[in-house]
Amino acid sequence: MQAQSYTNEILHGKQRVEECWKRVRFAVEEAAIRSGRDPSEVRLMAVTKTVEPVYINHAISLGATLIGENKVQEFLGKKPELTGGYEAHLIGHLQTNKVRQIVGEVDVIQSVDSVRLAREIGKCAEKKGVVCDVLLEVNIGRDPDKFGIMPDAAAETACEIAEIPGVRVCGLMTVPPLDADLEKTQRFFSNMHQLFIDISKKKIHNIDMRILSMGMSGDYPQAIAEGATLVRVGTAIFGSRNYR
Ligand SMILES: *Cc1c(COP(=O)(O)O)cnc(C)c1O
Repeated sequence: MQAQSYTNEILHGKQRVEECWKRVRFAVEEAAIRSGRDPSEVRLMAVTKTVEPVYINHAISLGATLIGENKVQEFLGKKPELTGGYEAHLIGHLQTNKVRQIVGEVDVIQSVDSVRLAREIGKCAEKKGVVCDVLLEVNIGRDPDKFGIMPDAAAETACEIAEIPGVRVCGLMTVPPLDADLEKTQRFFSNMHQLFIDISKKKIHNIDMRILSMGMSGDYPQAIAEGATLVRVGTAIFGSRNYR
């Protein structure tokens, strides 16, 4: 009896994920078209923190082949249970003492917020004989409670990090302040896009500005309107999170 109800729960959970995934996928395309952009310019990341592997695998089978995780331990714990065919990015704050474990295990580290962290990543990458793609996390709202490089220091920091062997800067990411309304959030996204363009124009050696990662469940259409090339969506695909 219990096994049966568990199976039913999983089945319903998968159906919900499928409906939500299709809805978000469609909304992302719609937002791109509405903004006069080519939908293929915007990648949709499924943020899988706190989500059980059975649902992540289901999402991957539906085409959610880009996944984002926040915590090193959580991701490494789930990884053996994940089916292949996906690209994984670390999107949560990374402590230097965890760098060794994550380099080589994800395709991109999106949350690089200091030169010191980038140096540690570079050191580990060189040891493992790989180059680690990174994004610089920018604290676009100058939020004292958030991680990230201050906007006016971003270009200089990008130059400094570009010099570090073992890392390759591929763009920028941001999480705007939670308390900002949609209008204000969109302005933050617009400022991010400007910063992205400014740094691209400098044509710095070893910087390939191709990813602008911004927008979450509540604001991804606004991010797409302002030039996001990657949106990170969790709740709208998997439902509200259950932190245990
Ligand atoms: C959790 C998280 C997301 C997804 O947030 P939702 O509101 O659930 O879509 C995106 N980016 C980062 C950095 C996150 O930690």
